[in-house]
Amino acid sequence: MFGDNPNRPQELNDGMNLWVQEVFYTLQGEGPFSGHPAVFVRLAGCNLSCYWCDTEFESSTWRPCLDELLTNIEASRPISCDLIVITGGEPFRQNIAPLVGRLLGLEPHLRVQIETNGTLFVDLPLSDRLHIVCSPKTAHLNAKLVERIDSYKYVLAAGQTDSVDGLPVCSTQKAGRSERLARPLGTASVYVLPLDSYDPETNARNRQECVQIALKHGYRLTLQTHKIIGVS
Ligand code: SF4
Repeated sequence: MFGDNPNRPQELNDGMNLWVQEVFYTLQGEGPFSGHPAVFVRLAGCNLSCYWCDTEFESSTWRPCLDELLTNIEASRPISCDLIVITGGEPFRQNIAPLVGRLLGLEPHLRVQIETNGTLFVDLPLSDRLHIVCSPKTAHLNAKLVERIDSYKYVLAAGQTDSVDGLPVCSTQKAGRSERLARPLGTASVYVLPLDSYDPETNARNRQECVQIALKHGYRLTLQTHKIIGVS
């Protein structure tokens, strides 16, 4: 959290056991499925350490096999829930292909969303029920991943956005350092959300700039609904 996590490398094996932080049922808070009830599978470890990241993904010692993980997911999923979100940490740090395949095979209407920082790649099954949301945190995206990305999501801080396209020009790894984060490619939708800070005035400025940028560039504004309504 807050940039002090170790940068964990990609661990590619047969994907039959995964390091998992937690499995929980909640409302998706942001992006294309915002407001959608979903079972979240938070995988452990990340290959980056963003200085403002407030997610806990390092404390787990749980490494279930796929059967145990799927039992856990199904126990958390009400029958009406048709969305599983695989997040992290960085999901592509591990071989999630077998997990994604098993999830897509559970029910014909079940959708799977993956949230990624865009730097790593694992070849996943092709399916129109698989939706990859990339929130770029570095200047470059993994070339193999790019063609599979359905949506982009950017966290915007006031005064740290590009005057031409409105997207971030600041590093996520070191506060105050300039870096032009990777830009969206193709026809994928673009979502912007304001950076959340502890300072109400900073938050107000971030929100205001985000709204202006969405209006100017045709991006979709998304808020961290889960924080506003007080759920994890
Ligand atoms: S890439 Fe995502 S999970 Fe990893 S440190 Fe950055 S914000 Fe946190």
